[in-house]
Amino acid sequence: MKQRKKWLDAAESFRIDIHSIVKCPNCEKENLTVLDIAFNTNAINMGGERCIECPECRKFEIVLYRNPHENWCIKK
Ligand SMILES: [Zn+2]
Repeated sequence: MKQRKKWLDAAESFRIDIHSIVKCPNCEKENLTVLDIAFNTNAINMGGERCIECPECRKFEIVLYRNPHENWCIKK
């Protein structure tokens, strides 16, 4: 339950600042990476999924955005 909260906090950090550095809540060894997957790549403002993954332990969390925010789907 506590770890779940950390993942939600991580999602919130990335929503505010896509360049946030967030340690994996699971293994705490690596920083999380973000991958945005639009429902429709020709219309990214239609929303999609954000996959937040740890490159070390491969644990991930998927957040759904129907009304994308400004840090959604921007190329890094
Ligand atoms: Zn991890």
